[in-house]
Amino acid sequence: MPDNKRKNRPDNKDMGFVCKKNDELVLDIEDLGSEGQGAGKIHGYILFVKDALAGDKVRVKVMKTKKNYAYAKLLEIIEPSAWRTEPACPVAKQCGGCQLQHCKYEKQLEWKRKKIEGCLKRIGGLEDIEIKPVTGMEVPYHYRNKAQFPAGYDKDGNIITGFYAGRTHSIIPFKNCLIQHPCNSIILDIVIKYMEENGITAYNEITHKGIVRHIITRTGGATGEVMACLVINADSLPYADKLAQMLLDNKNLSVKSICININKDKTNVILGEKVEVIYGTPYITDYIGDIKYHISPLSFYQVNHSQTEKLYNKVMEFADLKGSGTVWDMYCGIGTISLFLARKAAKVYGVEIVPQAVEDARVNAKLNNIDNVEFFNGAAEEIVPLQYEKSGGKLKADVVTLDPPRKGCGEKLLETVAGMEPARIIYVSCDPATLARDLKYLCKKGYKVEEVQPFDMFCQSYHIESVTLLKKVYSSNG
Ligand code: SAH
Repeated sequence: MPDNKRKNRPDNKDMGFVCKKNDELVLDIEDLGSEGQGAGKIHGYILFVKDALAGDKVRVKVMKTKKNYAYAKLLEIIEPSAWRTEPACPVAKQCGGCQLQHCKYEKQLEWKRKKIEGCLKRIGGLEDIEIKPVTGMEVPYHYRNKAQFPAGYDKDGNIITGFYAGRTHSIIPFKNCLIQHPCNSIILDIVIKYMEENGITAYNEITHKGIVRHIITRTGGATGEVMACLVINADSLPYADKLAQMLLDNKNLSVKSICININKDKTNVILGEKVEVIYGTPYITDYIGDIKYHISPLSFYQVNHSQTEKLYNKVMEFADLKGSGTVWDMYCGIGTISLFLARKAAKVYGVEIVPQAVEDARVNAKLNNIDNVEFFNGAAEEIVPLQYEKSGGKLKADVVTLDPPRKGCGEKLLETVAGMEPARIIYVSCDPATLARDLKYLCKKGYKVEEVQPFDMFCQSYHIESVTLLKKVYSSNG
């Protein structure tokens, strides 16, 4: 019988007394935490349980206690939640990359919508905002067009590739990741065969010896073009021509680019700076809508092609451009949103911190014969305020798009954006918590949230992407 005696203790100011390490408890899971872990309460004290779902009755073991919450390990599902489903992937639990595969897809979407709603209320103080149902995928698998697989050895000395077991660097051999493009397992089989046949070693993090560190694959969502890139701890890859031939001989792959990336540093960072082409072009080509992009091994590109297209169309709809108007696209990456909007705008300015991405953005503009775009390289929170100051406050925009990394935008940039007085701000977010913080600030600066449309870009994981339309109510310039 589980020891539930502690449950009956009177509430204590130091809530940590409600349970202690190694206690075994029976718990009703009521909700999911921000990273998809189950959350249940005992006398108001929260326990987070990985792999538990809202609606489960579970037996758990307390692993770590904090003042107001604890982490517990799932021992047994006593009564399963109606949300439960058998994960399609046999290693879903070990891997930890898909935190929600044991949850029915429609419930994943429902929870993700609520997650945004909760953040907007709690962090943003924004009540009564309409958050549309999450746009999901018809088949929420095999959507990732980019993968990075570490190479190593099993205990018998066989070369393996797969994924790192959650929060460790030990490789679990597995080649058929269900959220990855099906091309990947073919590429991995070929690379391993090439390594075995030609005596190419896998890298060892501890001894810093061995050659192949990672195998990176990219596939064009619209074109099916394939790139294989081996990250190596050497200046060149022995018998590279053999690898190229083996990949080209496979009729199921449309290989356009085979590269090596040289990384001889003792580091956890996957990619080095130098890329050399073994076969084909240093990029693959892909389309989003009718805009063409060159994608190199180092450039950022959204991982879910079909959902990205839907998201960009929503950005286009929210921008409501009629062929005129000035757009500033902050955090523009390789210019994807900039080029999408440029066809309906008079001028688009993109701002991006990674120099390589800005180079790609300029190439992509030329590739599509788009000449009403201009890209700035630097931190948006520095470049935009600087341009604004230089113009003596005359820098204006009709539409501003913001697509920051998880940490969000920060006040310095948002203050300048509000000063530019765009009629519409479109905020593309991959983190509802920082979105809520930034929306709160923009609302204080004269903007109103009109609509929030979430998109499930990272199906089976706890991540959620969203596009928010804000409209100007009054000018913060007075
Ligand atoms: N809008 C693009 C990229 C979005 S990802 C797309 O849809 O593909 C976020 C981008 O912000 C990345 O390209 C990253 O390099 C860039 N970035 C991160 N911090 C930045 C900063 N402080 N200023 C400008 N760009 C930044």
